Amino acid sequence: TPPVEKYEYQAEVSRLMDLIVNSLYSNKEVFLRELISNASDALDKLRFLSVTDSGLLKEAVDFDIRIQTDKDNGILSITDTGIGMTRQELVDCLGTIAQSGTAKFLKALKDSKDAGGDNNLIGQFGVGFYSAFLVADRVVVSTKSPKSDKQYVWEGEANASSYTIREETDPEKQLPRGTCLTLYLKRDDKGFAHPERIQKLVKNYSQFVSFPIYTWQEKGFTKEVEVEEDPTEASKDGQDGKTEKKKKTKTVVEKYWDWELTNETQPIWLRNPKEVSTEDYNEFYKKTFNEYLDPLASSHFTTEGEVEFRSILYVPAVSPVGKEDFFNSKTKNIRLYVKRVFISDDFDGELFPRYLSFVKGVVDSNDLPLNVSREILQESRIVRIMRKRLVRKAFDMILGLSMSENKEDYDKFWDNFGKHLKLGCIEDSENHKRIAPLLRFFSSQSEEYVISLDEYVANMKPEQKDIYYIASDSVTSAKNTPFLEKLLEKGLEVLYLVDPIDEVAIQNLKSYQEKNFVDISKEDLDLGDKNEEKEKEMKQEFGQTCDWIKKRLGDKVAGVRISSRLSSSPCVLVAGKFGWSANMEKLMKTQSV
Ligand code: ADP
Ligand code: MG
Repeated sequence: TPPVEKYEYQAEVSRLMDLIVNSLYSNKEVFLRELISNASDALDKLRFLSVTDSGLLKEAVDFDIRIQTDKDNGILSITDTGIGMTRQELVDCLGTIAQSGTAKFLKALKDSKDAGGDNNLIGQFGVGFYSAFLVADRVVVSTKSPKSDKQYVWEGEANASSYTIREETDPEKQLPRGTCLTLYLKRDDKGFAHPERIQKLVKNYSQFVSFPIYTWQEKGFTKEVEVEEDPTEASKDGQDGKTEKKKKTKTVVEKYWDWELTNETQPIWLRNPKEVSTEDYNEFYKKTFNEYLDPLASSHFTTEGEVEFRSILYVPAVSPVGKEDFFNSKTKNIRLYVKRVFISDDFDGELFPRYLSFVKGVVDSNDLPLNVSREILQESRIVRIMRKRLVRKAFDMILGLSMSENKEDYDKFWDNFGKHLKLGCIEDSENHKRIAPLLRFFSSQSEEYVISLDEYVANMKPEQKDIYYIASDSVTSAKNTPFLEKLLEKGLEVLYLVDPIDEVAIQNLKSYQEKNFVDISKEDLDLGDKNEEKEKEMKQEFGQTCDWIKKRLGDKVAGVRISSRLSSSPCVLVAGKFGWSANMEKLMKTQSV
């Protein structure tokens, strides 16, 4: 038998192994994602290289990944028919850290340890092959490269500073090509050798790996078998007492084991949108996000050029429970894939501004590294471009919904997520142009149904320059305010801002289609009907009265003026041009303790 050779790990690997074995225990299941993605990479590599070197495909086997479990012995094996490794490649790849991603992980781990420690890092970074040692105390890698005529076995143990390599001589273990990884699971992790558990993890992490993944599953089928009936029973219905043996059939379940395709190899977002039905999109949405209602809208698109990614976005039909703190909760609404491998649903904040956090969907990038972390995402120029495009597409989708014939859909949307868009007015001035047409308000001419700013503008009087609004706590109190009198008399429409956030949102927008938003409760309201003659007369007649009132009220008011803004009420309290509106003051009072 050929010799078994012993190798020392590079120092960094030893350190990494030590960390994995001794201090990282949360989120162990990510090992499967890492190993499947290695298998998928190996298949990708082979596919790519075989384009120019068809000799690599001399063994006629399919490109696939097979995961077998032996739950009695706690053994899990992952076999691919990819590029495999030569002896030298085994040393280079599984004994050293060539890769900057893993080195970065080590650094991040150190930093986070200094800052109190965070076991979740492994999930964000992925430590590749070595994550096998999260769950296994012995790992055997048997591998055959089509460039070599020998198959080699790498063997390593958790807590060891060295590994071995030998030639595979067992005829039963010969591979046509590719790699078979066998994990001997730790005592507490033998649960990963349960076929159902593995099936579930594969579905979750790698549902959309582009090569078929088979798992070894127990199956059953029912069979009719003939059984002989008890002769004493049979004699009872025999008329002449002859003991004639009667045959009877019985249904039995026959059990057997077989490979079962566990992933969907063609992700829906890779398909041509023209060939995907709304039902397909909705089904995918409901399955992926555990929703029971169809989404209100969806958008499937590809971007090419500078940055390449595909995405399907959705507007949910319901807002999540606990609306109150909608910007504080973790949403897990965007599933990020890199080259079809599921990376994380934890990066919503990196891909969308928080006011759009209600948008659900998948994003699959070809330009990001597999072991992408939040830190990488935050610094990435690619992500900045992606984010911009995603936001634009989300707005297009919502705009489409707002123009849909089915008006109820947008009403639902507005009820659920109107607040989010108003928050957008405050937080994202760059997208004001996209948000504003989506806003809805009640008005003096539409107290039952909300209207859009476009509808308001279309209804403006020819000489009207501004968009008028009054902020109040309800439609009822808004329509009873004396500020309205003159405007109503002139037939001018006034928006009723009755949601506490409305006023700030509008003040941030400042204008719509070059028309300023004007608060009708502020002093200096100019309705374009100034009559200087008359004002002069009034001042002469009532000037002293005003002075007298101001004296009586003292500091309680800033001033007392004669004004033409009322038609039937004798007087009204207005806010200063630069001060808070009365509504805002009320709000601030309720919020300050
Ligand atoms: P990464 O995948 O980021 O390169 P890993 O630690 O996951 O880092 O893997 C290290 C290297 O080991 C890979 O780059 C690849 O060369 C090799 N490797 C791992 N698994 C396989 C496999 N199933 N088939 C072929 N090569 C593999
Ligand atoms: Mg890897």
